[in-house]
Amino acid sequence: MDVPLYLRPRVEPPLAQLLEDTPFLHSLVDALGSPLNVLLPDTAAANAARFRAVYRRHHLAGRVYFALKANRSAALPRRLAVEDPAAVGVDVASTGELRHALGCGLTGDRIMATGPKDPEFLWLAARVGATVNLDSAGELDQLAALVRKYGLPRVQVLARLSGFEAGGAGTRVLSRRSRFGTPPHDTDALLTAVQRHADAVELTGVAYHLDTTGLEEKVRALEQCVLFLDECRARGLAPRAVDIGGGFGVGYVADAGEWERWTTALSEAVLGVRPPLTWRGHGYGLRNEGGTVRGTAALYPGHRPTAGPGYLDELLSTPAPVLGRAPATLLLEHLHDLHVEPGRSLADQCGLTLARVLEVRPTGDTHLVRLGMNAGDMTLEEHGVLVDPVPLPRGDPAPEERPVGVHLVGNLCLEADLITRRTVFLPRLPRVGDLLAFVNTAGYTMDFHAHHAQRQPLARTVAVEREEESWRWRLDEDYWPITHPGGTPA
Ligand SMILES: *Cc1c(COP(=O)(O)O)cnc(C)c1O
Repeated sequence: MDVPLYLRPRVEPPLAQLLEDTPFLHSLVDALGSPLNVLLPDTAAANAARFRAVYRRHHLAGRVYFALKANRSAALPRRLAVEDPAAVGVDVASTGELRHALGCGLTGDRIMATGPKDPEFLWLAARVGATVNLDSAGELDQLAALVRKYGLPRVQVLARLSGFEAGGAGTRVLSRRSRFGTPPHDTDALLTAVQRHADAVELTGVAYHLDTTGLEEKVRALEQCVLFLDECRARGLAPRAVDIGGGFGVGYVADAGEWERWTTALSEAVLGVRPPLTWRGHGYGLRNEGGTVRGTAALYPGHRPTAGPGYLDELLSTPAPVLGRAPATLLLEHLHDLHVEPGRSLADQCGLTLARVLEVRPTGDTHLVRLGMNAGDMTLEEHGVLVDPVPLPRGDPAPEERPVGVHLVGNLCLEADLITRRTVFLPRLPRVGDLLAFVNTAGYTMDFHAHHAQRQPLARTVAVEREEESWRWRLDEDYWPITHPGGTPA
């Protein structure tokens, strides 16, 4: 075999310690089955604190709203509910998520309602005093009508904008088109509607969410929001917050060199100058056109030098194109609050997904390793995130250890049920009964796409906490961030 092309995960404490406790993780899967999701709720709180530290460094006020769509658990929002109410809230994108947030102890004033909304969602959000992040002028009309008809309290709303353009003569659209938010040419009508509905809503700020890692695009959008707030004030409105959404990203692969080597090797494999790196030569969006690599790889940038809170820091410090000053300065000068809605990055290092090895089958030059999970259970691959699982051997490892390339396949009777489409290199061949731990799956990849196909079991989710020298675990639904008198967990 060639030199193994590892993509080893970035693992930080306390997730790193949890991974070292192989007997504990095996005992969990023995009891609760494969696949199994394991969450570290305290890490979500620590991540929120890291975002808050960036706020403090820039002297900014405002909230960190965890985007609940990233994970279905109860443990993460319940843990966040005990954080400072003025500093931490949640972003909900459906009636179900709103109900879930309320049931986890988050009061309405800590909830940001985003996404497309049906009347029930709007009514409940207004009823409990959540902030409504307006998707469109039509949604505003609907909300105002509900407020009047049911005598609801005046609702705080943010105007979500999209389709930001270059200033000045250029009309080049610099951000990709979005199906959400109000484009620039419709903001005037939106503000007119806000004023018409002044009895029912109060415009407290402006918002955007750009699903990209492009920093310049976001700096530009933030600046345009500040300029838009000036416009609002010129019209006699008094909004004071900018909500810059999520998309701060996560670094999955620890080593920049491994990521570089792997992506270079993918191009070489597509060109045919080295053996395929993937199942049936899949190119992840790249193709060979007469000896040249074309297309763009549909991959998440696996190694990220700055992500999460560090990315926010960079965003706040990068001079904006029109006014020439850093967004943090613009916000501070205007005394605007800053809100963020991190999903993936707030769930960074908050969990892992375990799968049992059910079969190891030699196939010519590699092995098929069949796991007790399917491609819907653990969707790093679906999200274009390429990162190796961590093998957790059962008992003593085999005496001879030799790196191998394997293909990880799922438990469905379906050719396409591949856990990864690439050849995954492991330091040794797994054995039946071993576990593979997929690290950092709490953001979108542990339960977002899980389904009941073939009546395979859905993963259970447990929340674990460090307790002196060992780990305490509870089913996710039984996790509460309090202890009973006498010190036993709730
Ligand atoms: C999905 C979403 C987020 C979270 O995005 P991440 O990339 O997970 O940080 C935040 N805000 C809105 C409106 C969203 O739709």
